[in-house]
Amino acid sequence: MDRKAPDLDGLYRDTVLDHYRSPRGRAEIPDPDVVNSGVNPLCGDEVEVALKIAGGSISKARVHGRGCSISVASGSMMAELVAGMHSAEAGKLAETFRKMMHGEEPPAGMDIGDLEALKGVRNFPVRIKCAMLPWTTLVDALRMHGEGRARGEVPTTTETGGENA
Ligand code: ZN
Repeated sequence: MDRKAPDLDGLYRDTVLDHYRSPRGRAEIPDPDVVNSGVNPLCGDEVEVALKIAGGSISKARVHGRGCSISVASGSMMAELVAGMHSAEAGKLAETFRKMMHGEEPPAGMDIGDLEALKGVRNFPVRIKCAMLPWTTLVDALRMHGEGRARGEVPTTTETGGENA
């Protein structure tokens, strides 16, 4: 597994490594409304997203990622950005990020926070899945919540126990 960042420009690389080393949004959420996990088998990245949703807005977001610097940093940036956002807005941001990974510029005036630092990942197509993993997991979590489902598991992960400690 390649845990190194691709050869991004200096300033961007520092931002990515800062999120990788001190990921945001790790605090446990008691009684989350939806939990979803995702894997990127190409790289070995794993992520779990837990959300507290109130009145259609993400009041709390917990993102716990393991894997390469790109996937962990992207999840950390996402946790920072989506907390407090309306779920439709978060979905729009996910779509903007996906398009950015495929060469499109974000709409003028849209705040993409530190995601700017991941722009260079689009020059490394094999790593785009790493950057997208937290976002696709988030979008699925929001869809699940909209469908009234609370917990999703991708078939390749094993259940690690949902019992109360
Ligand atoms: Zn990765």
